[in-house]
Amino acid sequence: MKVTDHIANAKGNPQFTFEILPPLKGQSIDAIFESIEPLMEFKPPFIDVTYHREEYVYIPLEDGLLKRQVVKKRPGTVGICAAIQNKYQVDAIPHILCGGFTKEDTENFLIDLDFLEIDNVVALRGDAVKNETYFSPEKDGHTYAVDLVKQIDQLNHGSYLDVELQNSACTNFCIGVAGYPEKHMEAPNLESDLHFLKKKVEAGAQYIVTQMFFDNEKYFDFVKRCRAAGIEVPIIPGLKPLATKKQLNLIPHRFHVDLPEALIKEAIKCKDNAAVRQLGIEWCSAQSKELVDHGVPVLHYYSMGKSDNIRQIAERVF
Ligand code: FAD
Repeated sequence: MKVTDHIANAKGNPQFTFEILPPLKGQSIDAIFESIEPLMEFKPPFIDVTYHREEYVYIPLEDGLLKRQVVKKRPGTVGICAAIQNKYQVDAIPHILCGGFTKEDTENFLIDLDFLEIDNVVALRGDAVKNETYFSPEKDGHTYAVDLVKQIDQLNHGSYLDVELQNSACTNFCIGVAGYPEKHMEAPNLESDLHFLKKKVEAGAQYIVTQMFFDNEKYFDFVKRCRAAGIEVPIIPGLKPLATKKQLNLIPHRFHVDLPEALIKEAIKCKDNAAVRQLGIEWCSAQSKELVDHGVPVLHYYSMGKSDNIRQIAERVF
């Protein structure tokens, strides 16, 4: 079922959803099921599965030169989605990237998803590959997420890359895209970022999932600005509980979001990471309850493969 239908059917009741990462290559899918299992009691209508593009590693050769080798550390997004749908009868949503994909790769990927009865996708640009500063698309790939949204929308209208195909089957994907309450790191300002977010919606995106934020005012302000800009689709808040002291630096560095002073002060006082994890649970629960009071349709948790803290939050909120 489409995310938009799940939201409509819930009739205003907030829903619990989460996102998982495929396991590192070489690990079994059991680790995924073990992290999902404790959360199923809260009846997520859908579960997102991230996509991880290839990385380059440099292998030293005997003559002292380096050989560039492509590795994919977390393959398996589509397989995991199919396994989740099969095992739990819950919609699984694969993330799909511009990065590393030609338009042809994208089309074939979407055909696979359609055959697997996957009804939703989150369309993203992806980041630059490790060791490169700027994102660069494949030779015949998309530069921005909006172009990927357009391709998915065209397939939804039966329009394939091969123009000679006649009377082709239409896919029926519900398309989600990313939004950034604290702006995307490359955007010159929030106004510009909202301008391009609106383009994604005009191209066919039916809902937005936000980057994580730790101060609800950032989300409320973002939603207000989106509505003022004419963006009418549901905006699902993305939440991540703080779990380690190291994340005080890691989260702003990796995700380009601010941490509130009050949260930092409390985290610094914590004796160990167990105490930080507990603080993260309390902070995220308070954020979640306030968002529920504001009538958000869905709360989306970045689980990062660990479910104990997300479970404790869900117990308090749902
Ligand atoms: P875009 O919407 O293309 O925007 C990228 C930048 O370009 C922005 O600054 C925007 O303002 C600007 N821009 C957009 N269109 C134009 C235009 N036409 N002209 C000029 N500038 C433009 N990454 C992964 O690798 N795998 C995942 O599974 C994944 N899941 C994510 C899920 C969520 C909810 C979020 C918030 C992010 C996720 N990411 C993931 C990270 C994401 O790939 C990066 O943040 C990436 O840098 C931007 O992706 P985007 O789709 O927002 O890009």
